[in-house]
Amino acid sequence: MDFSGQTVAVTGASRGIGRAIALAFGRRGARVACVATTVDGAGKTAQAIQEAGGAAEAYACDIASAQSVESFVEAVVERSGAPSVLVNNAGITADNLMMRMKDEDWERVLRVNLTGAFLLTRAMSRPMMKARYGRIVNISSVIGLHGGAGQANYAAAKAGLVGLTLSVAKELGSRGITCNAVAPGFIETDMTENLPEDFRAHVLKTAPAGRLGTPDDVAAAVLFLASPEAAYITGQTLTVDGGLYL
Ligand code: NAP
Repeated sequence: MDFSGQTVAVTGASRGIGRAIALAFGRRGARVACVATTVDGAGKTAQAIQEAGGAAEAYACDIASAQSVESFVEAVVERSGAPSVLVNNAGITADNLMMRMKDEDWERVLRVNLTGAFLLTRAMSRPMMKARYGRIVNISSVIGLHGGAGQANYAAAKAGLVGLTLSVAKELGSRGITCNAVAPGFIETDMTENLPEDFRAHVLKTAPAGRLGTPDDVAAAVLFLASPEAAYITGQTLTVDGGLYL
């Protein structure tokens, strides 16, 4: 898969899965617009891409803010060129049992994980429609497909991303734009480092793959769905969980 000549925007590129996705695109010739809440965080990934001989720029953007997203999209089109690929990867958790969940934890998780993807997709689809080409990949979660005790906010947001993916696929398909989702299982990153040991043991025992996932496992699926070769695949959610939920 070759992304030479393409600008790719990856949110949540400072750490974990987003960083692996950004690095993978960088290795395959893309110019990568790395997005995180701080330019320092995004800059570390952009620097790693540049040191490996690739092209990348760093952007600070709070995807929960419509104004911040508009400024970012304006800046990226001017500085890096209109992206042909958008990966909505940034996400947060604020877990608690539903009965104890605070309004602000519900709203914040929905705002970052779901509204953020909507804001970016809406803004980025304009240049994609003009170019009559685009690839949008949303990072959902197996929790969005199966639910999770203590994760009502996160599950609702990640399920919402699946609905967003289906609708965007229908709206933009005739313009050469595909929209798909990837639903990772248990991937070793900062987000999962504090999960209970017994859950980790359950994954190891249950997943046919017999191991936890890596950010690179997710990046491989994202790259395929973002490639020109995946032109006839849209509206799909691809689970990357080592078979955990079979
Ligand atoms: P992570 O290591 O916690 O990284 C989260 C990333 O999101 C960071 O780059 C962070 O930027 C960025 N971010 C958070 N809030 C943001 C905001 N308001 N605006 C812009 N960027 C923001 O997470 P991860 O494990 O790599 O997860 C990446 C995605 O995969 C998430 O959507 C997550 O829900 C999903 N996922 C993860 C797993 C898993 O097992 N890890 C499983 C299924 C789905 P800063 O560094 O600047 O804070």
